[in-house]
Parts: sequence; C-alpha cells; structure tokens
Amino acid sequence: MLISVERLLIKLRQPRSRADELIELRRRLRDELAADAGDDERTLAREVHARKVAVSAELREVTSCRSCATGAPWPRGHYDGGDCCAGVTADLFDDHELGALAHAGTRPRDLVPPRDDHAGCAFRGAHGCSLAVDHRPARCVHYICDTLRAELHRRGRLDAIEARLAELDAEMQRFVAVHRARRDRDVLAPILDAIAQARRG
Ligand code: SF4
Repeated sequence: MLISVERLLIKLRQPRSRADELIELRRRLRDELAADAGDDERTLAREVHARKVAVSAELREVTSCRSCATGAPWPRGHYDGGDCCAGVTADLFDDHELGALAHAGTRPRDLVPPRDDHAGCAFRGAHGCSLAVDHRPARCVHYICDTLRAELHRRGRLDAIEARLAELDAEMQRFVAVHRARRDRDVLAPILDAIAQARRG
C-alpha cells in the first residue's frame, strides 16, 4: 500500500491524537528498517524477541493486568486494565526498542491499533493491547508492577519470572550497546566523509 494512502486511512479511522502517533511510529520504523544493521545486531534482536515471547507465555495466566487501572485518573483509568500502558507511544517505543523490533521482523503493517478511544499508548484498548507479543517492546513484558509482583508471589512464580526477566534485560542491554554504536557510526560517517572531501579539495 502506498504510504500516503496508508496515512489517509489511519487518519480516517483513528482519533487525531492516535493517528499522529501511529503515523510517526511507522515512519520511524521504516527509517530503522532502511538502516544498514549488521548480523550481530540482527542476531541480538532475535534473541531479545525469543526471550520476550518466552517470558510473556509464562505470564499468560495472570489476572492483575485486567483491573489494575480501575478508578485511576485519565488516561490511566480510561480502561480498567493496562495501567502501565498509559504512557506516551514514542517513549514506550524508544529508538532501541523500535530497533529491536525492526531487526527481529516487525513491519509497519504489524503495528495495528484498536478502534477504541486513545488513552495512553496507541495500542491500548478496551481489550488490552492490540499487538501480538512479537511486536510489543520488550519493556512491555519486562515491567512488573507491585500488584503483579504480589500475584506472582502468591502463585509461587515470582523468583522464576524475575530470573527470566533478568535474562531478557541482559539481552536487551547487549542489543542496545550494538545498536547505539551502529547508529553513532551512521551519524558520524557523512561528517567524516565531508571532512575527507574538504581536505582533498
Ligand atoms: S505496546 Fe501494548 S503492552 Fe506495550 S504499552 Fe502499548 S498497549 Fe501496553
């Protein structure tokens, strides 16, 4: 689909605030996909993805996330669940998270929002997150609030989950180091080229 048509459809179907955030997020994702990521970056992104999906599967049965925001001020309390999803889309999908998603296979067409009101993250809706776990930032799985922590403790799962989350965090930190270094090189390369050209001139 042409990008201009895609943007028009988003604007027609979504509230203005979500449309703006989604269009910008997809633009940033396309930029990341066009970047010259190395094999090491892609391998680490796939490792982050695998650990994220594995931890998420272990959290499937928890119930805390369905009602944690009840009674909270807007935007948190606009939906009963997903209190930690009430942040700003661009912050939740920061450059490193978006890089990890891009190089593990996420494409703009995978970032599909709900048709409900916009209250927090662009993908938060009345039935939770509209994204498949594969396409959610690692931080969405990594974040364990006190309510969820207490539930995991009651279920006797807290220590095991925390160990998995520590592994996910370590993998993400490895990805961030490689991603940051490559992005720095991308910024510096044209400057060094210009300096070399000026010297030759
Ligand atoms: S991507 Fe999904 S899980 Fe993550 S903050 Fe947004 S709505 Fe919540």
